[in-house]
Amino acid sequence: PGDPTAAAVRTTCPYCGVGCGVMADVAADGSVSVRGDPDHPANFGKLCSKGSALGETTGLDGRMLYPEIAGRQACWDDALDLVAKRFTDTIAAHGPDSVAFYVSGQLLTEDYYVANKLMKGFIGSGNIDTNSRLCMASSVAGHRRAFGEDVVPGTYEDFEEADLVVLTGSNTAWCHPILYQRLLAARRTRGTKIIVIDPRRTATAQECDLHLAIDPGTDVLLFNGVLAHLARSNVIDQNYVGAATSGFAEALSAALADAPSSASVATGCGLAEADVQLFFQLFAGTERTVTVYSQGVNQSSRGTDKVNAIVNCHLATGRIGRPGMGPFSVTGQPNAMGGREVGGLANQLAAHMGFESPEDIDRVARFWRAPNIASRPGLKAVDLFRAVGEGRIKALWVMGTNPAVSMPDAGRVRAALKSCEFVVVSDITRTDTTRYADVYLPAAGWGEKDGTVTNSERRISRQRAFLPPPGEARPDWRIVCDVARRMGFGDAFAYDGPAAIFREHAALSTYENGGRRVFDIGAMAMDEAAYDAMPPRHWPVAEESVSHHRLFADGRFPTPDGRARFVAVRQDRLARTVDATFPIALNTGRLRDQWHTMTRTGRVPRLAANTPEAMIDISAADAGAYGLADGDLARVTSAQGTARAKARITDTVRPGQAFLPMHWSGSFATNAAAGSISTPDVDPISGQPELKHTPVHIARE
Ligand code: SF4
Repeated sequence: PGDPTAAAVRTTCPYCGVGCGVMADVAADGSVSVRGDPDHPANFGKLCSKGSALGETTGLDGRMLYPEIAGRQACWDDALDLVAKRFTDTIAAHGPDSVAFYVSGQLLTEDYYVANKLMKGFIGSGNIDTNSRLCMASSVAGHRRAFGEDVVPGTYEDFEEADLVVLTGSNTAWCHPILYQRLLAARRTRGTKIIVIDPRRTATAQECDLHLAIDPGTDVLLFNGVLAHLARSNVIDQNYVGAATSGFAEALSAALADAPSSASVATGCGLAEADVQLFFQLFAGTERTVTVYSQGVNQSSRGTDKVNAIVNCHLATGRIGRPGMGPFSVTGQPNAMGGREVGGLANQLAAHMGFESPEDIDRVARFWRAPNIASRPGLKAVDLFRAVGEGRIKALWVMGTNPAVSMPDAGRVRAALKSCEFVVVSDITRTDTTRYADVYLPAAGWGEKDGTVTNSERRISRQRAFLPPPGEARPDWRIVCDVARRMGFGDAFAYDGPAAIFREHAALSTYENGGRRVFDIGAMAMDEAAYDAMPPRHWPVAEESVSHHRLFADGRFPTPDGRARFVAVRQDRLARTVDATFPIALNTGRLRDQWHTMTRTGRVPRLAANTPEAMIDISAADAGAYGLADGDLARVTSAQGTARAKARITDTVRPGQAFLPMHWSGSFATNAAAGSISTPDVDPISGQPELKHTPVHIARE
C-alpha cells in the first residue's frame, strides 16, 4: 500500500511514442490512479483512453511473480546460474553467433543499454535485435541515408506551427492520439490544412481536408510526383539545394521518369487526377509543411525508399530545420527511439555509432573495455528467428515482447521457439511466448522500475517507480547484469542502479576528442540526485544549458561533407502482389483502445468495450463475392497460415482490400492473430517486415 500523504509521482506513459507525462497516485489500499502531467511538454496534462486506464493495469492479474525452470518455480540464483551456464556453454561450443537476444521498445533505455553491451561488447556478436525492427527500422535507414544519422529533425511544436500537415501511413487519431489533439487544436486557431495518405478511410482520414486513398505501396510514386511537380513549378529552393545537399539531379531525374505527369501518378496510385493535382498544389504552395509518416510507410518491403521519397521533397524546398516544416517520423513504441540510441538494432553499435566505421568499433571497444567487441551487424528480426528455426541460433533470450504473436509468419516463429535448444523469456506476465521458455524470469513492470525513455521528438523523459515490484520480480537491467556477472563479466556490469547506467550511456555519446556529432548527451552524465529530478529534455545535450530543440537549422548535416543527401528512388512493386489464389490485400494495424498483443490493455474491460473481439473490415462488394454477411465468422488464409475473425462490412476499406487489427492472439480469441498470416517479406535495406500488405483469401467459415 502506498502512503496517502505522498505526492503524485511524475512518470511517462508506457504505450505510444508520443511519450506523455503521467502523474501517478497510490491510494492507501494500493490502488493506482493516474492523470496527465500538466507540466510535461508532450501532453500538457492530457491523456488518451489507453493512458488514462493505466491505473487499472497495475494489479497482479496475470503477473508472474517467481522465476521458473522448465515450468516449475525456482529461486533466482538457480535460474540465473542456468541462463549464464547455457549461454556460456553454447558460445564455447558453437561461437558467439550461436546465441541471440530479441528485445523490445518496451524496455527502458538503461535495460536496453546493458543488454546491447553484453551481446555486442562481451559475448561478441551483433545478434541483438528488437521489436522496433517491426516499427521503425525503415525510418532509421531512410534517415541515415539522407542525414547521415538517425535523426528526427523537428519537434511536436512543428505540428502546431505548420500550415499544411501531410499524414502519410499514419492513423494519428488512434495511434498517437494526444499529438493528434494538439494538431486539431492548432488547426482550430490557424486553419491548418490536413491531408491524409492512406489506403483506408481511417478515423484520421475522416476528419481531414483531403484524403488520398492510394493503392497499397505506391507512396514512392506519389512523392516522386510531388518532387517532379515542385521542379515543374519552379518551387525548388535552388540556394538551399546548392549549399546544403547533394544528389539532387539524380533524384529529380528518377522522379521525372517515374512521374511524368499528374495523370500518370493518379493512374499509378489509383487516385482521381484532380485530387493528385490538389495535393501537388497544396504541397508546392505551402511553405510551412510537415510530412508525418508512420507504420504505413515503414512496414513495407519498400519502406526505406518511401522515407527517402518524402525527405527528398523537404530537401528540395529547404523545408527542414525551420518552424512548422520538415519530414517527421512518429514512432510506435514508448522507447523505440531510446533503443535506437543505445544500439538496440542488430545493425547498430551503440550511441548512434555503427559497424561500418572501424573508428566507431574501436571507440566503443575502448570505452567498454570490451574483450569481444562485435565487428559486424547481427541478424535482423525475421532472419534472426529464421536462424533459430534452422538451429543456427541455439540459445535465445526474449525480453519484454511477444514474438509468438507479433512477428510475421508467427506460426514459423512459434515452431522456431519450440525447436530452439534453450529459450529464456523475461516479461511481466505469462504470454504466448512464455510457453516456450526453458527459463522464465519475472521482470518488474511500469510503475515498478526506474529509467528513461525517448519519445518521437527526441525528448528524454524519466519513468519513475511508485510501486514495489511484486513477488520476486526484478528490473530488466538488473537481470541482465546478474547474468553478465555469472558469465564472468562482472566488472563491466557492476552498476548500483539505472542512474549509473545512464551516466555511462551519456558519457559514451560524447567523442573524447571533442568532435561534432548529433547524438551527444554528454552533459546528461549526471549524479543520482540529478537523475532522479531529471526534467524532460530534447537531445542533443552537449552542454548542460543547451537542449537542442530543432535540428539542421544551419543547413549542416552529420554526413562526411556536411550535406544532406537526396536519394534517387523509383516506384517498384511490393514483394508480393495479389493474384487469383490470394486476391485480397490485407492491411494490419492498431485500434484506438488496445496496445500490441493486449498483454496489458486486454485486462481493462472498458478498453475492450468498443471492439470486444477481432473483426476483419471488408467492403460490401467483397463480402458479397465471398458470401459473407456482417458478423459472419470469416476464415482468412494466406501463404503463411489461417486466422479467423468476424466480418465487418464497411466503406472504410476499398474493394480488394481488408483490415485486421494486430492485437489478438490465441490467448484472447480463436486464432485471430494477424501475425499468423502476415508475410515475412522485408525491406531489403531496413529488414522491416511488410505488415501492411499480405495477399489473402477470405471465405465464410
Ligand atoms: Fe500514452 Fe500515447 Fe496515449 Fe500519450 S497518446 S497517453 S503516450 S498512449
